[in-house]
Amino acid sequence: MEEVRLQKVLAQSGVASRRKSEELISQGAVKVNGKIITEMGVKVTKKDLIEVNGIPLTKEKNVYFLLYKPRGVISAVSDDKGRKVVIDLLPGVKERIFPVGRLDYDTSGLLLLTNDGEFMNKITHPKNEVPKVYVAKVKGLPSQKDLMKLEKGIKIDGRRTAPAKAWGLSRDKKAETAIVELTIHEGRNHQVKKMFDAIGFPVMKLKRERLGTLDLSGLSPGQYRSLSANEVRDML
Ligand code: URA
Repeated sequence: MEEVRLQKVLAQSGVASRRKSEELISQGAVKVNGKIITEMGVKVTKKDLIEVNGIPLTKEKNVYFLLYKPRGVISAVSDDKGRKVVIDLLPGVKERIFPVGRLDYDTSGLLLLTNDGEFMNKITHPKNEVPKVYVAKVKGLPSQKDLMKLEKGIKIDGRRTAPAKAWGLSRDKKAETAIVELTIHEGRNHQVKKMFDAIGFPVMKLKRERLGTLDLSGLSPGQYRSLSANEVRDML
């Protein structure tokens, strides 16, 4: 019978991401056949009874959703201050889904949700370079030269960003604002806002238009749809 590492089984069952599953193990929240396991690397088979916080693990089927996140919602499963979280926007979904990466509270756009921890790890790992296309309204009128700085890479938090694509979509000279499309392949914290801050054009409004081959067509803010099996496969 196939032996699989405990943290992998937890991640695949949708309990949490791989990293969070490791945390659950080291916190003593996981039992195998009635015994608490805290060390990493223990292997289990289908025959073993696994419990997380006393609840037996049952394999949920993997589900994948694409949400048009509106502004004013937190990219999390719950919020201790009681603010609206993205999970609240998918009330009919019974599986334990979580967001794949994050969009800021005031950012709108494409957000994936799944209970498949492996999928999440693959999509969010910088090595996979899934392109993320953002449209930003910025304060000021960046020149071609300014946008080149974003393309070449710019230092944020002491580290250079990977090469990006920046494209000026429109400029409002009177209001002194511009709309810029920026494609990045990383997912660092507040990356787009920090990149624009670094060249002196603060972001006023931000939307993620595309992720890999996926876009928001057919959806309005707050709406979601399931991904097809082909769409899931194309992302990996
Ligand atoms: N970059 C940001 O600054 N914010 C987001 O929400 C996403 C990318």
